[in-house]
Amino acid sequence: MRTSQPHVLIVEDEPAQREVLSYNLEAEGFRTSKAENGEEALMMVAEETPDVIVLDWMLPSVSGIEVCRQLKTRAETKGVPIIMLSARSEEVDKVRGLETGADDYVVKPYSVSELMARVRTQLRRVRPSTVGEVLTFEDIILDAETHRVTRDGQSLKLGPTEFRLLSTFMEKPGRVWSREQLLDRVWGRDIYVDTRTVDVHVGRLRKVLGQHGGQDLLRTVRGSGYALG
Ligand code: CA
Repeated sequence: MRTSQPHVLIVEDEPAQREVLSYNLEAEGFRTSKAENGEEALMMVAEETPDVIVLDWMLPSVSGIEVCRQLKTRAETKGVPIIMLSARSEEVDKVRGLETGADDYVVKPYSVSELMARVRTQLRRVRPSTVGEVLTFEDIILDAETHRVTRDGQSLKLGPTEFRLLSTFMEKPGRVWSREQLLDRVWGRDIYVDTRTVDVHVGRLRKVLGQHGGQDLLRTVRGSGYALG
């Protein structure tokens, strides 16, 4: 299901490397977007926040370090993991020393499988349901690998949309999601869906979660949206 796929932004000025990365990430089931330089990367992030950024250090005009520094100082993007690519290990030391805030560093030439593993590690932190983790909240357990959901030990039958909704809520308990944010995350921004559709599916999810008499953990936040817990 493409809409719940994690989104990885690749910032790399060498076309061949960009394509290899994109090809392999997509083969893993991720959605990718590609930027050739720092300016383009900053523009793309402003338009749609990716889940993870793979960022080459040596880029024409705006360097990877500068892109990283800028993203890590902005409230909206500072939580997005950045994996920095650099040509030599001395460069990595230098980047670390510059305190750009990058979350991980990979030295070129890197093995693609190693880089994939690093991407998954970052995703486990920010989008655990997309890498098959088991999420728990109160008495709800969601297994993203097997798509099984239980509440208080009882198995629940959820439709695919309700499953993605619950995964989204369970990744960040307490976070208030607006209807638009849920549309982007659960349905994807390419599809036109009315915001009332969100209410319908939240209603269905609520019903399934409460079918064995458990407390209603989904909060409607007036004027804002919904939150779990
Ligand atoms: Ca480069």
